Amino acid sequence: VKVVRTIRALREMNLPDVGFVPTMGALHEGHLSLMRRARELTGSVVVSIFVNPTQFGPREDFSAYPRDEEKDLDLAREIGVDVVFAPTSEEMYGPTSTWVEVEGLSDIWEGASRPGHFRGVATVVSKLFNIVKPGKAFFGLKDFQQCVVIRRMVEDLKMDVELHFEPTVREHDGLAMSSRNVYLSPEERRAAPTLCAALNDAATVLQSAVSEASLVEDVLGKSRQALVFRGFDVDYFELVDARTLEVVRALSVDAWLIAAARLGRTRLIDNRAVFDNSFF
Ligand code: AMP
Repeated sequence: VKVVRTIRALREMNLPDVGFVPTMGALHEGHLSLMRRARELTGSVVVSIFVNPTQFGPREDFSAYPRDEEKDLDLAREIGVDVVFAPTSEEMYGPTSTWVEVEGLSDIWEGASRPGHFRGVATVVSKLFNIVKPGKAFFGLKDFQQCVVIRRMVEDLKMDVELHFEPTVREHDGLAMSSRNVYLSPEERRAAPTLCAALNDAATVLQSAVSEASLVEDVLGKSRQALVFRGFDVDYFELVDARTLEVVRALSVDAWLIAAARLGRTRLIDNRAVFDNSFF
């Protein structure tokens, strides 16, 4: 694996048929599954490792975010990644006055709790697409709203890249893998899989239900209660339309369950389709 730190050096490589996996490092199986998929589908695999400062709020964990480049490079090497692009913030931003804002989709759910987050994400992904020029780019459905925002951006700005959204990779007990799981105390770690279990339980009930608004409301209410009972501070647990992210009470193929909840100082997010043959 070749480590490249400058935009110029990456451009000079002129890689053919690029599959691109953007990450913030601290790589785990979730990231690796995206890299394997890129390896399967494309000729040259480029992985970026860049902890993007502009997607962190002032009170978020930018400086504490886990970083382990040596280990990340070993993992990338094992998978047969061709290039790891690991630029500095200066290289990516310098003095900058241009931002990419995906209106509407960026202000709700994660965006409501984390103002400016998706502006940072959309901007850095745009920059990375311009630098890496991928034919295909790979994202994890773990960050569901991010997938929706990026898809909208690519459509709106007519970007010439094929997006691939891949399933969430989980621990054996169902907890969605995340670089931030290392923040959980042992007790919190034991409670954490309840988030995934609550989503699965809600989906099961909804699948077998007649589409009725009061029932949906009831299922969501019980799910929130189950999480609170297990010590979560629930930010949202909702049924939304996967295209618009608007709250829905009808059970169509686009119905998607999304959730965010805090255990102590760690905020966990997770989601799942209600039906298998869903939109993504
Ligand atoms: P991050 O390093 O957290 O910015 O994530 C980089 C990419 O990996 C994003 O597309 C994430 O959605 C994806 N990702 C993170 N965790 C998982 C997971 N557990 N399963 C699948 N993809 C994931």
